[in-house]
Amino acid sequence: MAEILVLVEHVDGEVKKVTLELLTLARTLGSPSAVWAGPGYSEAAKARLAEYGADKIYVAGSQDIADHVVAPKAELLARLVSSASPAAVLVAATAEGKEVAGRLAIKTDSGVLTDAVGLSDALVAEQSIFGGGVNVRSKVVKGTPIVAVRPNSTAPEASAGAGAEEQVEVELSDAAKAARVVERVAQDKGARPELTEAAIVVSGGRGVGSAENFAIIEKLADALGAAVGASRAATDAGWYPHQFQVGQTGKTVSPQLYIAAGISGAIQHRAGMQTAKTIVAINKDPEAPIFELADYGIVGDLHQIVPQLTEEVQKR
Ligand code: FAD
Repeated sequence: MAEILVLVEHVDGEVKKVTLELLTLARTLGSPSAVWAGPGYSEAAKARLAEYGADKIYVAGSQDIADHVVAPKAELLARLVSSASPAAVLVAATAEGKEVAGRLAIKTDSGVLTDAVGLSDALVAEQSIFGGGVNVRSKVVKGTPIVAVRPNSTAPEASAGAGAEEQVEVELSDAAKAARVVERVAQDKGARPELTEAAIVVSGGRGVGSAENFAIIEKLADALGAAVGASRAATDAGWYPHQFQVGQTGKTVSPQLYIAAGISGAIQHRAGMQTAKTIVAINKDPEAPIFELADYGIVGDLHQIVPQLTEEVQKR
């Protein structure tokens, strides 16, 4: 069966959910091989990867990989593409994953597709392009297809793989060492799920009105076990931190459910959320463009509707 490389995303030794999604997707295309780059690999990580279908696990555990930002991962994958000749390489369509994909495409003289939200067994990707304005189906016709897949586009399903481990030594080039990590600052993540990985996102926009009012957005998010997002109008106003901005110049999310409260639905905001499976919009203006996109729309004042919604959810 064709080998499909999956670059593992991991934090503090824990495999991130998006990797389980990619392994699930890879199983529909061939035999998944997980690629672990950097320190932190453990028996628990191995078990997790095998549980979701990794037949093989390449482990390049050198600290050097973690110390030199993105380029070493592209070098590692390029080496594996050359030695294993996989049918495709899958990475998560995160900021880092997309950069790895681009660098790998150059190194292997291959085509790359980013922001895929689906991938058929013929390696035809469903892609969201032009800031999310257009959906296309595309296929790489040169080299080894490299596809960056958006988090939450596939539901992760366990199905055991062989989990055969293979250690890989990488001798990094000088170019890969050109940028070095000098400091890591832990972010206060709180109890909420990470924005790009969350199954539910509740976002607030200018209609929220103030930083203090974001408490009602957070309450609804907490009742639903969701992440909080914000439009650029809200982050630029200083009402919510920039790292939670959703859109063209913010994060791209693809949750099962996206609730947009007091957000008009500008193209730049849509670019970051329109591949959400179900979109609910709360807006007092019935003509707001977000309603063209929404599966469910509530016309009214969010300051009344959001707390009512929270109360209802808390009752269940
Ligand atoms: P507005 O457009 O002002 O909409 C506020 C909405 O709230 C209105 O529809 C209004 O009817 C509603 N409302 C007001 N009060 C209430 C209430 N009490 N109850 C219910 N509804 C209410 N934007 C992003 O979001 N993300 C990006 O990444 C991004 N990148 C950009 C990049 C570029 C290059 C540019 C030029 C712009 C970018 N923008 C981005 C900005 C974008 O164009 C919009 O200005 C922004 O998305 C508007 O945010 P908003 O919907 O919160 O505000």
